[in-house]
Amino acid sequence: MNPSSRRKASEPATRPAAVKAGKCPICGKPQDMGYRPFCSKRCSDIDLGRWLGSRYAVPGEPISTRTEGDDEQ
Ligand SMILES: [Zn+2]
Repeated sequence: MNPSSRRKASEPATRPAAVKAGKCPICGKPQDMGYRPFCSKRCSDIDLGRWLGSRYAVPGEPISTRTEGDDEQ
């Protein structure tokens, strides 16, 4: 048997390691593993607030988001 025929898992795969390390889109600080892609819960909330705010900021647009209890017949 030829042991070299077996590939080890340590073989480098094609992974975008350079893109892995990102910055918080809100304040630009390094991302936190727990709040990616943000740096903290604060920035996560800010982004969420912006997203929700932009939704209501569009007048006259029909809201087609799914609503709970929409399965009723
Ligand atoms: Zn941040």
